[in-house]
Amino acid sequence: MNPGDAMSNRLLAALPAPDLHLLEPELETIALEQDAVLLRAGDDIEYVVFPHSGAIALMIDMADGHTVATAAVGREGAVGILSVLGPSPSTTTAIVRAAGTASRIPASRFHGAFSRSPAIRRMVQIHVRAMLIQFQLGLACNALHPVEARMARWLLQLRDCVDHDVLPLTQQALSQMLGVRRTTVTLVMRNLRTCGAIRSDRRGLIEIDRAGLAAAACECHNTMRLEVEEIFATNSTQPRTAIEIKSRDAM
Ligand SMILES: [Zn+2]
Repeated sequence: MNPGDAMSNRLLAALPAPDLHLLEPELETIALEQDAVLLRAGDDIEYVVFPHSGAIALMIDMADGHTVATAAVGREGAVGILSVLGPSPSTTTAIVRAAGTASRIPASRFHGAFSRSPAIRRMVQIHVRAMLIQFQLGLACNALHPVEARMARWLLQLRDCVDHDVLPLTQQALSQMLGVRRTTVTLVMRNLRTCGAIRSDRRGLIEIDRAGLAAAACECHNTMRLEVEEIFATNSTQPRTAIEIKSRDAM
């Protein structure tokens, strides 16, 4: 593994060196192929996957075949990390929605390091809090905001993961993520093109105008982004120095 790649993941990058060294011998770099299914709902979680780049959507599969995305995971998070909470099958299906690379570690090895390292436990707390924000705001957004605003939110979330304005998304993928019909996706895409939020939509590549999309989106994307940044800022996995502890206690 190239250690520089792993440092692209913000959770791994936030670990102090001795704690990262607990994981490094077991980390393996993998390609995240476009539309690959990393994990199906009901599967045992065999690996914890830390994306360096690209985007993974966590999907809920309903009995009638409908699906909806509950979260997007990029280099700020990990897939499978919640397996540390206890042995249970995955509740979501994880699908790569933008290709990239990742580091993965066998879940059993990660659990061992988790039990030995307070910094890794803090890293898991960061991820859990960030996921809860996505789940809670996503739930509110799905219930309260119109489909155009929700699609704009998802496109912005995926854009944050890939860091460029061309997103490799088919209308079918958007239909599955939003839990709406393809005809609704077509209509919403047309409206977003008309207002300038989407520049083009051809052959499964959507070119967005980030500012236009932000104007079309509800407040949920911005709220999520700010709250996740706040979590990273206030929950460092680096141990506090004696001076920091003393100055904080004196306040
Ligand atoms: Zn919303």
